[in-house]
Amino acid sequence: MNIKELIRPHLISLKPYSSARDEYTGKTGVFLDANENPFGSATSEAYNRYPDPLQKELKEKISGIKGVPAANIFLGNGSDEPIDLMMRAFCEPGNDNVIITPPTYGMYEVSAEINHVETRKAPLSADFQLREEEVLKMVDERTKLIFLCSPNNPTANRMNKAAVERILLSFRGIVIVDEAYIDFCDSPGFSGKLRDYPNLVILQTFSKAWGLAALRLGMAFASEEIIYFLNKIKPPYNINQATQQLALQAIENVEWKNQKVKEIIALREKLVDELGRIPKVEKIFPSEANFVLVKIQDAKSVFDSLIENKIIVRDRSRVTLCEGCLRITVGTEEENKALVAALEGKA
Ligand SMILES: *Cc1c(COP(=O)(O)O)cnc(C)c1O
Repeated sequence: MNIKELIRPHLISLKPYSSARDEYTGKTGVFLDANENPFGSATSEAYNRYPDPLQKELKEKISGIKGVPAANIFLGNGSDEPIDLMMRAFCEPGNDNVIITPPTYGMYEVSAEINHVETRKAPLSADFQLREEEVLKMVDERTKLIFLCSPNNPTANRMNKAAVERILLSFRGIVIVDEAYIDFCDSPGFSGKLRDYPNLVILQTFSKAWGLAALRLGMAFASEEIIYFLNKIKPPYNINQATQQLALQAIENVEWKNQKVKEIIALREKLVDELGRIPKVEKIFPSEANFVLVKIQDAKSVFDSLIENKIIVRDRSRVTLCEGCLRITVGTEEENKALVAALEGKA
């Protein structure tokens, strides 16, 4: 696979923005190159210096916990940023297309639309599995990206690994496997497979298991060639200094994340049991994530009555294959109790 044949041609010769600190990598010195404030910041913390554009220290730490070399890591302002950058790197607006497998995460299509890129849809099967033949049938010479999500949002299940690998092997474009919920699932995911598949891009995030949604930190793991082009087109300082520092702190505290993942999984199983006893709940789909998809009688009015109790879930009742379903995030013990009570009409 030659990435240079897939990338938008004008990006090959693009000269990226050269930041003030690109020429000097030392940590100490008299910095009069970036028009910063020499006195510090109008806060108790010093944020007056521009952050490391390539987040080297943070990538080394992430490499340590993920087992992915730092050179294969890209960091974005949430996963949403690498999703957008992949469109901008590979898809000619008004010409190229991407394939998604609904029901799935809404951002892929929105990002495609923003970039004026056609979205082709190969729906999952009724049991929410990939139909690889259907996916591959949609491919033409203008198909650049295929987005897969595993465990999938909003269905909460993992995609069949062999089917994902067959798509990776057959498709002569980039396959993006979004693993936002990988921490909640038993499978190791695809991060060990980067060497096998030069067209694989894996997305992970600090927004879910790590509890850092507000910081906006997403990861993409890919070949060095793909990372090179993402770095070339990204905004220079896309990860702010506070986020870099706080993410380093979080990684030192990985036990917290692992403990909370265990608790959330236990709470999920308990919630599934309790929801199963509610008569109007028709089906609870198996979950390998921190949410459950629930088919419920009269979903829209249940959704509205939950809102009246100030309990907010996600209404997926009009989404293909999710008709009549609500997507419910696993909360704390008390939050889940409040939800169940409201569903039983006891609130
Ligand atoms: C929540 C979620 C993300 C995370 O997005 P961020 O921008 O990193 O917060 C990515 N993909 C899927 C499928 C998600 O559900």
